[in-house]
Amino acid sequence: MRNSGKEWDLLNKLDREENLTQEEIVILLGCRDRKVEEQLFYLADEKRKKYVGEEVHLRGLVEFSNFCRRNCLYCGLRRDNRKLKRYRMSLEELYNLAEKIALQGLKTIVLQSGEDLAYDAKSLASLIHRIKKLDVAVALSIGEREPWEYALWRDAGADRYLLKQETFDRELFAKLHPDDDFDQRLECQRTLKELGYEVGSGNMVGLPYQTLQSLALDIKKFQEWDFDMIGIGPFVPNPDTPLGEEVSNPEGKYLLTLKVLALTRVLTKTSNLPATTALGTLIPGGREKALSCGANVFMPNFTPSFYQSRYIIYPGKGIEESWENYLLEVKKMIERKGRVASTGYGNRVSSGSGEAGRR
Ligand code: SAH
Repeated sequence: MRNSGKEWDLLNKLDREENLTQEEIVILLGCRDRKVEEQLFYLADEKRKKYVGEEVHLRGLVEFSNFCRRNCLYCGLRRDNRKLKRYRMSLEELYNLAEKIALQGLKTIVLQSGEDLAYDAKSLASLIHRIKKLDVAVALSIGEREPWEYALWRDAGADRYLLKQETFDRELFAKLHPDDDFDQRLECQRTLKELGYEVGSGNMVGLPYQTLQSLALDIKKFQEWDFDMIGIGPFVPNPDTPLGEEVSNPEGKYLLTLKVLALTRVLTKTSNLPATTALGTLIPGGREKALSCGANVFMPNFTPSFYQSRYIIYPGKGIEESWENYLLEVKKMIERKGRVASTGYGNRVSSGSGEAGRR
């Protein structure tokens, strides 16, 4: 082989064994040779084809409340952010929106919010039950709740739950989450798995105090836990949070995020990996590039624009005014990339049983 050196040996090993140690991952994450980076992205794209094929799963995202009981240092929805105008959608509004999304042909509806206890478990369960009649998969992303609540929603028909660990570095987690506990959050993911949900975890890349060691640990943990979905996005500083002043290098953070994504694809093989909105916020075209670096999921935002403009986790998200057009654009983009917009539910492929899923 023409290229020699430790990094190229590691890429060969990654291709052959589809595995690396944490230390080896650190070396690849730290390598700034463009050729090595491009080869890593190419490899991830090949493994994506091999394990999850050409389909891109579309998930209709609804951000239904920006109230939050927590105070995570990086997030614009944090309780102490007095600048944010808060909103809550009613259950009826939510149902009507879900119906519109289903009519567009999307087969997954993602309900996301801050940790807002105003929505009680029983009301949410009956909403889920109603939405399930629209013949869609339902994914929840509403934070940490009690095991009995997770169980109730699962019984009502919820299929998936997204709860990112954000970082698997205990000390870093503690620094960023003044009122959250590392083990408790991880325990929620364990409970969700036991209840039979498809479980999504994930991280943020480029957090203050985060090292390549902690990112490599995240990747090994994704592999060890065998999460069904893994959301990997760059940290985007929000001036209305305590971490708003962070000096950042968007290009470096962008490439590092893509490398974490690419390595995660190879090591987890069949996990569903979204091209996250935050990547597109950081660098124009970032989400499209992610689809060539291991990602196979895209989440168009269907939140009405007057609410979307207040769901400011981080700045610069961009607001979609007309989502019929937007959806067409997304589908065209997927086709341009030689991929196929999926018409199925988009469950995780399980070896042998294809798209059958687990329900
Ligand atoms: N309250 C829910 C939903 C969280 S919001 C929960 O706790 O799971 C969705 C995601 O936004 C978070 O998981 C986090 O990874 C991401 N996020 C928060 N602040 C961010 C920031 N400043 N930059 C990039 N991503 C951020």
